[in-house]
This record gives sequence, C-alpha cells and structure tokens, in this order.
Amino acid sequence: MEQNMQTKLNVASTSFAKTKVPNLLNGHESTIREIVERLRRSRRVLIAAHEHPDGDAIGSSLALLHALSMQGKQVTSYIPDAAPEYLQFLPGFDRLTTTKPNVVDYDLVVVLDCTKLFRAHLEAEVRAHPNTIVIDHHHDNDEGGTVNLVLTQAAAVAQILTEMFRMTEVDISHDMATCLLTGIFTDTGSFMHDSTTPDILELASELMGKGARLSHIAHETHQKKELPSLRIWGEALSRVMVNEETGAAVSLITHQDLAQHGATLEDLAGVVNLLNTLPKTNFALLLTEYELGKIKGSLRSEPHKGVDVSKIAKRLGGGGHKLASGFEINGHIIRNEGQWRVLPPGSKTGVIE
Ligand code: 5GP
Ligand code: MN
Repeated sequence: MEQNMQTKLNVASTSFAKTKVPNLLNGHESTIREIVERLRRSRRVLIAAHEHPDGDAIGSSLALLHALSMQGKQVTSYIPDAAPEYLQFLPGFDRLTTTKPNVVDYDLVVVLDCTKLFRAHLEAEVRAHPNTIVIDHHHDNDEGGTVNLVLTQAAAVAQILTEMFRMTEVDISHDMATCLLTGIFTDTGSFMHDSTTPDILELASELMGKGARLSHIAHETHQKKELPSLRIWGEALSRVMVNEETGAAVSLITHQDLAQHGATLEDLAGVVNLLNTLPKTNFALLLTEYELGKIKGSLRSEPHKGVDVSKIAKRLGGGGHKLASGFEINGHIIRNEGQWRVLPPGSKTGVIE
C-alpha cells in the first residue's frame, strides 16, 4: 500500500500530461514536481498553519496530514493557538497540536495559508530549516520557504491542494474530501465571494462525489450557533456605526462583552461579512478585544466598492487579501461618554466614531 502510494507520488521523472494540468497550476509544474518529490523523500513531516486558524488553515492542514499519514509518514500538524470549536467535526481534529514542535526533528516543514511566517509562530525555526515548503494564496506572502507555491488567484489553499492531489493522482479519501471542501467552502464565503469560479464549483462537486457532505459542512461551520455566539452577534450588530466620511461600517466588541456572554473571538466569525452587506458602505471593520489588551481587526469589502482593505490592514501591521484582511494591535476598546475609543497602550485615545 505504502509502496503503491509512493509510486503514485513519484512524479519527479515524469512530465504531466497537458490535459492533466488544471488552469490554476498551469505554469507551475516544476514547482509542483519539486514539492511532490520533497514530500515523497521525507519521513517526518511538520505541517504548520497560522494563528487564529480558520477553515482553510485547518482543513488544508488536516487534508495533507491524512494524505501523508496514508503513506506511512509521521506527521504533526501544528497551530499556534487552539482551533475553533466549529471545526471539531473535521476528521483528524484531535491530531492537531498547539504544543510548539522541535522543528529540527522533522525532515520537512510545510507551511500552509500563512501570509507571513511569523503568523505560524515558527519564523526563525522555519528560516533556519533546510527543507521547507510554503503553500499559500495571499498576495503579500513573504515566500520564506525553500520551495514556494503562492497562487494569489486561488480562493483557498484547499483549492491548491485539491488540484495538486488530482494532478498527481493522489487518492482523495472521504476524510480528505471533507477537510478540503471545508477549506474551500469557508474561504469562498460559502461560495458567495467573487473568487467562486466554475473551476471551484467543479472541484467542490468532485469532493462531494468522494463523500464530503456540503450540507453538513455548512451546518457545522456557519449555521450552528450556541447561545453565547448568538448573544455576542446581537451585541456586535446592535452597535454597528457607519462612518460618513470613510463609508466604513464599524462595530466593536470589548473584552468585557466576551466575558459577559461567555463568548470567544471564534463566536464572532462571520459578523464582519454581514456588516459588509450594508448598502452604501465602502468596507466593514470589526474590532474585538479578544484578550485583555489584545485587539483583532477584521476587514471586508466587495469588488464593486473599489477599496483594497489589505492596504488598511498593512498600515496596521497586518495583511491579507484585497477584499478580506486583518490585523492585530495592542490596546483596549472602551466606551466613554457614549463614544467608542481604542486606547493604545501608553498613548492617548483614538476616537472611532
Ligand atoms: P479574518 O478577518 O477572517 O481573520 O482574516 C481575513 C484575512 O486576513 C485572512 O485571509 C487572513 O489570512 C488575513 N489576516 C487576518 N488577520 C491577519 C493578521 O493579523 N496579519 C496578517 N498578515 N493577515 C491577517
Ligand atoms: Mn486561506
């Protein structure tokens, strides 16, 4: 079985038939060959994804973990902080670890969905390692791997992996299909973002054919809401403000709000997308003080609005895509005399409205 899979993965000496190269991977055949060869040669593989991992980071990590485990390799899938509960249904979820790995113990490190290496909390270790692969779809990726496959036209890393598996004839198991479709479904905003192409729908169809249940994935990732989640959504939606000057739809959640409702940052996933549906706004911003003194900003826009929110995120030390980006800052969110303020540590107040 192992040998069989290894033969399948050994494409180093073969060239891909033109008909087998999907649009997304066209022109990247030598990089794919290099990646497949490095995966084939390694025995111990570390997969790393970004902090505050989302459906694509976790779905892609677990799909690759399943693929490599089936080939008898020892695989660790590391995320710097806990995976959101709404992804617990994913097969292999229990195999994720937040314990910082000893990177030198692995022959190969694969970094997925990570704009910047520091977001995997392993930057120095990955840069010092001689054998690393970066697979991503963010345009500001810093390409810090030995081999880098950064395809900005991909809607999700899970899309890149699915195409890679198909092209190199890796069997996509039922578990892999569920993980991959979850990554694609969540990163395309439930197939509603502009990034949803006919090719993606075709991939999704194929993954369903391999056993992934779209309705189940939709239910687990979006529709299921516990009480703390509904209540924190209520807070966020009830205080949305529209800034007339910038056209920003803004909402804020304090640390106290989260504590009061027993909610966490992950319960707010999706709120900023809803803020972004407000007509006559240019972009949406949700600020959450998710830990005392730590603020996460999420930004969204839509193609017709003509705003590149990644530029805003970058100015604040973050990054991401033109229509979906984020950043983290230190500070406190407070409401003072009816006005919302962000208090940066050690400086004066910044007024939001
Ligand atoms: P979200 O708002 O869903 O957390 O993130 C939206 C997008 O922005 C994601 O593609 C994510 O990778 C990127 N992003 C979110 N937060 C950060 C951040 O702190 N730094 C960088 N560089 N990118 C971020
Ligand atoms: Mn992604």
